Amino acid sequence: MIPPCDILVLGGGIAGIAAALAISKELSPKVPGLKITIFELHNVPSTSGGAINLNPAAQRHLHHLGVLDELDKMGADGGAEVDQVEMFSIHSGRRLGRVDFSGKDGKGYGGYKARRVMRISLHLALLATAEKASNIDVKFGKKVVDGVESEEKVTIFFEDGTNAVGDLALGCDGVHSPTRMKLVDPSTPSEYTGICFIQTTIKANRINAPVHFKTTAMNRSRHGGLLTTYCHKNKEDIFVAALAEVDAADISHETFCPRNRDSIRHRRTTSERLRDEVCERFNDCGIPCVQEMLEKSLNWALYPVYQLPPDRKWHTERTLLLGDAAHAMPPRDESAAFALDDAILFSRILSLYIHQPISDAFAVYEYIRRSPVTKAYNSSNVTWMSNKGTGRWTNRLEEWMTPWQLYKDKKARIGAWEFDASTLYIPPPPKEPSLSSLEDK
Ligand SMILES: Cc1cc2nc3c(=O)[nH]c(=O)nc-3n(C[C@H](O)[C@H](O)[C@H](O)COP(=O)(O)OP(=O)(O)OC[C@H]3O[C@@H](n4cnc5c(N)ncnc54)[C@H](O)[C@@H]3O)c2cc1C
Repeated sequence: MIPPCDILVLGGGIAGIAAALAISKELSPKVPGLKITIFELHNVPSTSGGAINLNPAAQRHLHHLGVLDELDKMGADGGAEVDQVEMFSIHSGRRLGRVDFSGKDGKGYGGYKARRVMRISLHLALLATAEKASNIDVKFGKKVVDGVESEEKVTIFFEDGTNAVGDLALGCDGVHSPTRMKLVDPSTPSEYTGICFIQTTIKANRINAPVHFKTTAMNRSRHGGLLTTYCHKNKEDIFVAALAEVDAADISHETFCPRNRDSIRHRRTTSERLRDEVCERFNDCGIPCVQEMLEKSLNWALYPVYQLPPDRKWHTERTLLLGDAAHAMPPRDESAAFALDDAILFSRILSLYIHQPISDAFAVYEYIRRSPVTKAYNSSNVTWMSNKGTGRWTNRLEEWMTPWQLYKDKKARIGAWEFDASTLYIPPPPKEPSLSSLEDK
């Protein structure tokens, strides 16, 4: 078998750039003339999206790819170290529990704690690392619209009328993936989870009341959670995000309207309407600094959260979906880690199966990856749905049960944080004949 040497990466987000970096790292010594091209929809790196929490596994994998060094070079923009996510009742201000990233020795899991960083900083660090690899090329302003496969090649078509031909394509184009919808599995569109992030950032020095958390707090109410967190090393800005149930009919940014406030709909900007909504939902707030953050914040934005049903198709003969394009699940602190795991694991498998048909590498990848992804999906879903509104008494009960819930999930959480895609055992390829020729028989 001739090794794949022209690899098309569709989408330049976390999964796409990480896949290009990981493949470059694994295949460069084995495939002379290796060429990896990333095709990204946006014309420039996108600055939207707020802050993201990188768990210990995500940090370890970013280190493996050389990205963490780039983040560290950014100084304050490289993000705030997170020892723990503290949980509070927004109504009473009572501390309910915490998710601890520092571990028994205070050094984290596998040497890493968590980090909260603005998405744009992470993206720029990924791009800076990719720029250093001579065989990775990033093409911006390339919107994937279709694709077709032959026995030997895959051809991807772009909105500007151009196309690209490669030996294999990786669909890393997010939850609404056109690669999935056009090439791999048109029967699996994304589904709205019923919950949105309504988010903003505010300068920390505008808050007069003492801040009630060290780096990150999840403040629970019966109308959903309210995340308040620093996102820079110097704690200059506070990222505020309400996780709130919003009707599907209201999720357009242009037309969003707080419930029962039709009369003011046309007199206020979208950002003001979003702030009205958050203030109304969390109006029984008993934490003074949070109250201030809600009242003083401007520039609120709405992010409806989508997911995919589990256990759907991930690949064809020459195209594989990675990251959210394959398995978008409700965000906790681990979806980005999953995109990085995918990238590192697949590149190692591709390298080991370099002389086998590409579909063998895809099959082994799916064999290893399917079960942990499905388990994570199921557990994310339960936590996520708790952001849907509940009654006063159900909420009290849930608050009361938080320590028990955290204790129950602790083992699975730590298992995910300690996961290392760069060392996981991969079954070696059979000497001869290949898996696919056996299937043919
Ligand atoms: C509101 C919110 C908060 C989250 N918070 C966290 C968190 O705190 N921690 C965490 O670990 N995870 C979090 N996640 C999940 C995490 O952001 C995703 O799992 C992660 O970004 C997946 O990376 P990806 O590269 O697969 O997809 P994306 O990040 O969506 O990247 C897809 C890329 O493909 C490009 N693209 C799309 N369509 C096309 C096209 N037609 N042609 C070319 N390119 C295209 C996009 O522009 C983008 O660059 C959150 C998700 C959401 C929605």
